[in-house]
Amino acid sequence: MAIKTYKNFIDGKWVASSSGETFDNINPANHKEILGRFQKSNASDLNKAVKSAVKAQEGWRNLPAPKRGEILFRVGELLVKHKESLAKDMTREMGKVLNETRGDVQEAIDLTYYTAGEGRRLLGETVPSELNNKFCMTVRMPVGVVAAITPWNFPIAIPSWKLIPALVCGNTVVFKPASDTPLSAYRFVKLFEEAGLPPGVLNFVTGSGTEIGEPLIEHHNINLVSFTGSTDTGAVVAHKCAWNMKQYSLEMGGKNAIIVMDDADLDLAVEGVIWGAFGTTGQRCTACSRVIVHKKVLRKFTSRLLKRTKTLRLGDGLKNTTDVGPLINEAQRQKVLSYCKLGVEEGAKLLLGGNVYKKGNCRGGFFFEPTLFAGVSPKMRIAQEEIFGPVLSILECKSLENAVEIVNDSRFGLSSAIYTRDVNRAFKAIEKLDTGLTYINSSTIGAEVQLPFGGTKGTGNGHREAGTTALEIFTEWKSVFVDYSGALQKAQIED
Ligand code: NAP
Repeated sequence: MAIKTYKNFIDGKWVASSSGETFDNINPANHKEILGRFQKSNASDLNKAVKSAVKAQEGWRNLPAPKRGEILFRVGELLVKHKESLAKDMTREMGKVLNETRGDVQEAIDLTYYTAGEGRRLLGETVPSELNNKFCMTVRMPVGVVAAITPWNFPIAIPSWKLIPALVCGNTVVFKPASDTPLSAYRFVKLFEEAGLPPGVLNFVTGSGTEIGEPLIEHHNINLVSFTGSTDTGAVVAHKCAWNMKQYSLEMGGKNAIIVMDDADLDLAVEGVIWGAFGTTGQRCTACSRVIVHKKVLRKFTSRLLKRTKTLRLGDGLKNTTDVGPLINEAQRQKVLSYCKLGVEEGAKLLLGGNVYKKGNCRGGFFFEPTLFAGVSPKMRIAQEEIFGPVLSILECKSLENAVEIVNDSRFGLSSAIYTRDVNRAFKAIEKLDTGLTYINSSTIGAEVQLPFGGTKGTGNGHREAGTTALEIFTEWKSVFVDYSGALQKAQIED
């Protein structure tokens, strides 16, 4: 079958890059399968996209917010209509199992319906004035032109976390998706076109982070960069934005942990750890990569976890017999392999896995064995660095205080969880764990869109996406003072 070539979306038109070049989008479960060719864009394409977003800004911000919300509700309806085919394409281009890609699209649906409703809220405040005959209030204004740069592990959900709030708040957008998942991004953008978004309000440009990502961040007409990706790339974004006096929000890496206390329901904890560590093949920012187990139950828990991990079936995510799909690409597989070698060198005990997986139908894909390390100490690099693969380290703790200390001994602060039946311990953990998300008797993954999402330390820069907190990223506050006294009244000045 002929391979389809996909284009950029600029000023309401689908256009080829002026570079005349494309790149291939491949299936990580079978890298011989090319799903499509995408534009290898350059700075000239990018300039056109930004220009178009600038041109559309005035008209879009002047459209009443409830009307903007109505268009976005239509996007939500289209996501519902196409959920299954979007999920299938997503599994083909990034590998996670179909149930999870359905979840990815569902998250975008939830986010879209929740946030489109902001078109009729966008709440500000009224507060009393210190003077008579004077009225004080705050109103939200759009920031301007937003650059949205996204990773490949949630190819529709994460873009929705940026595009929907940015648009409902009256901003226009230039969207650069990850080069590993341009198809899901393309299909998402098509839905905005179908929903009737005016030309130029959302522009879509594919190409590499260095070739178009960096010029996008540096472009003088970009007012805000909303970035999700690795902490290393986030640091580049932060430097460039600071230098160019731009606003930026960063959602970055994690090294998330589950604590299993001696009073925990161990079977429940095993299931939570399996879901956290091996769901999305360990490629979630909130993936559980450390399980910290009380010494009294360490042996029992480890043996149940090992037994359960051995049952996981690797394969193509489109098959309903598959539990764990491939990694995203060969570079990521080599990175995971090198961490497994490092773990052995550091003296951790390899209980299971630790190698690439090439058996049967998995020969042609980037598969990796689910891996368990025991006897891991908190300072080992496998316990400190984000591996982003199906590799779980088991650490021992002596008490809740000791467990919290281990969890917090990290440059990241995204997600944490604790399994305990003791309500006092649960609340102490909520108080002490230095992470943006904490789960009680549940895994490190499973956020819901009506709550703020983000992390502390090297995971973020103080912003939170989703919930109502997303509005803080995508709007500017204006404080308004209305004096209806007919006289010159002076705040703070005594007569
Ligand atoms: P990444 O390599 O940092 O890439 C993220 C995005 O940035 C991609 O679109 C990438 O483009 C672009 N990019 C790369 N270099 C750039 C540069 N110099 N300037 C501007 N843009 C650049 O991350 P990833 O491998 O896609 O995603 C995995 C990481 O994302 C993990 O660390 C994970 O924890 C994190 N993540 C965090 C969250 C969260 O909410 N905290 C959620 C999901 C993932 P190309 O694809 O073209 O390179």
